[in-house]
Amino acid sequence: MAQQGSNEERRHRLRLAVYKFASCDGCQLSLLNLEDDLLALGEALDIAYFPEASSRMEDGPFDLVLVEGSISTPEDTSRILAVREQARLLITIGACATAGGIQALRNWTDVEDYKRVVYPSPAYIQSLSTSTPISEHVRVDYELWGCPIDKGQLLRLITDLLAGVKPKLPTHSVCID
Ligand code: SF4
Repeated sequence: MAQQGSNEERRHRLRLAVYKFASCDGCQLSLLNLEDDLLALGEALDIAYFPEASSRMEDGPFDLVLVEGSISTPEDTSRILAVREQARLLITIGACATAGGIQALRNWTDVEDYKRVVYPSPAYIQSLSTSTPISEHVRVDYELWGCPIDKGQLLRLITDLLAGVKPKLPTHSVCID
């Protein structure tokens, strides 16, 4: 009976998913570093897909989707389309997702050179010649900049969305504060 009650509550909370593409996980850690605030958000959000932090990996659709990382492999290009289809609001977090990240250095050189240096068997590595931001592939509703993102800015963004308020996003990255 208690389980039915909790399922009923979950139906009324906004469903959140967190997806990772090419990235270091640092921006997802900013979400986890919200600590007590994250617990409070858990009252209003149903965290339905967040492999970095939980074994719960439910199917969409989701109300809010946070995306960390850039598009750097052929598989990424199709996966981000599927993620977008499941997202009512899609928010990219961090320099990788919003600008391509440090891995976009390959955009000005030959990625095959990097593969030969880094991997003993580069022929097995499936990699695009570029690393590109999520917004070059799908519609993005909001972007949070920074490497990593500022957890306070993330908290304000999510809190505003939960309150039905249009978020006021920072006009520059925390990297240049
Ligand atoms: Fe890591 Fe920086 Fe990319 Fe965030 S933006 S995933 S901290 S490299």
